[in-house]
Amino acid sequence: MNESISEIVQLWARILPKIKNEMDDNMVFDTFLSDSYIDSIEGGEMIIVVNSPVAVTVLSSKYKDLIDRVVVGATESNFTTRFVTKDEIKSQKTSPKEVQKPQYFSDSILNPSYTFKNFVVGPSNREAYQASLMASQNPGKLYNPILIYGDSGLGKTHLLHAIGNAAKERFPKLRVLYVHAQEFLDEYIKYVKGDREGASIVDWFKSSVDMLLVDDVQFLSNKKNTEETFFSIYNNFYSAGKQIVLTSDQHPSKLNGLDDRLKSRFIQGLPLSINVPEKETCENILRMRIEANGLDVNDFDEDALSFLAGRFGKNVRELEGAFDRLLFYTINIQPTKHIDLKTAMRSVSGLVNIKEDEERLSEQKIIDTVADYYNLAPYQIVGNIRTSQIAMARHISMYLIRILLDIPFTKIGKTFGGKDHATVMNGVNKVEKSLKTDESLKKAVEELRGRLKA
Ligand code: ADP
Ligand code: MG
Repeated sequence: MNESISEIVQLWARILPKIKNEMDDNMVFDTFLSDSYIDSIEGGEMIIVVNSPVAVTVLSSKYKDLIDRVVVGATESNFTTRFVTKDEIKSQKTSPKEVQKPQYFSDSILNPSYTFKNFVVGPSNREAYQASLMASQNPGKLYNPILIYGDSGLGKTHLLHAIGNAAKERFPKLRVLYVHAQEFLDEYIKYVKGDREGASIVDWFKSSVDMLLVDDVQFLSNKKNTEETFFSIYNNFYSAGKQIVLTSDQHPSKLNGLDDRLKSRFIQGLPLSINVPEKETCENILRMRIEANGLDVNDFDEDALSFLAGRFGKNVRELEGAFDRLLFYTINIQPTKHIDLKTAMRSVSGLVNIKEDEERLSEQKIIDTVADYYNLAPYQIVGNIRTSQIAMARHISMYLIRILLDIPFTKIGKTFGGKDHATVMNGVNKVEKSLKTDESLKKAVEELRGRLKA
């Protein structure tokens, strides 16, 4: 398998909506495909994991041609698909003799599509960009550690991956680790439980990683033991002159619930803010995306770009969403080559209406809001994948639906891909229980209620 896991996940996330679009039966999609994922790509064949033997039969016998066609269209390569169940994969992969404990962070990979080249620089992010660039050119030498902080959707994760990608390009032997703070927590728990091979986690970092990129360190708040371990790892890196770059949603002095020693270490580093981009930067981001899609900037009227930048520019993720919508509209709904203000406005009218419709709270809105908060897609929230971050987001969604809309567990279960009463109840109870002790969960739920205005 050549492709990295994150590439494969992204690829499938791109293909799924296209398949849904092509299918005339949404039920089939929702029941058999909504929680599917690619296990691997081997010799031109995509191995797709689906939720049941029935799904394998139905998809292989009735929908394979349609799906293959969409896959070929989306990838521009001659891939074919094969459907399997999770159990089949497991039995192929682990013969009982060779069960091995996994290595630390074996799933953490740099995302090759986040680079400095496709990061648009403007006054809002120039300092963060420049420090990041320098860190990638002279790891550990100039600014160390660096902490980039700012609101969601402004490019922090993009910069972290860009640092890693550029550093690896320049120093191919440099061992770079990108890790989300939540993954660090998960890994730490596995280590404490004895589920990891070899050295202690602190020693492993010392001997296996040269550059450490940790995303969203606010997730470490109120996790005393994990913070202590992270503190040791951090100190080892610092004294060895190895580069550390961190991101968080706030200035380190405001990271409540974070160990004071860790907080002061972060403040001593170089905290750099990344801010809401100016309109011009937003327009440049749009131009870059136009070109990246093989289109001609001259086909887009200035005031169309200005409208999108003004309306959606507070969050680059949303700006990208609006732009994708415009492309979809001008390709599929009202084919046109020249894009003027009116077309731009029409294409996003759904988004704008959804926004104006905010009074009405619905299950879907809660799911969308939680998904956005955790950088997930809504279908992941209602699906079956059980990585801890997704499961947590799922439980929080169930909890919010239950308390804000007072919907019965069985009905919530239906929304979440047919889960039963007990599963939903357990999820909701788990959140209720954790809220009593877990400050960061409390903060997340409060933030989400704020976004939902509930
Ligand atoms: P954050 O981690 O701050 O929440 P991300 O790094 O995930 O934000 O950025 C959200 C999306 O916006 C990503 O697709 C990213 O590539 C894009 N993005 C953000 N800032 C820029 C920029 N200056 N130039 C190009 N793309 C950007
Ligand atoms: Mg991020």
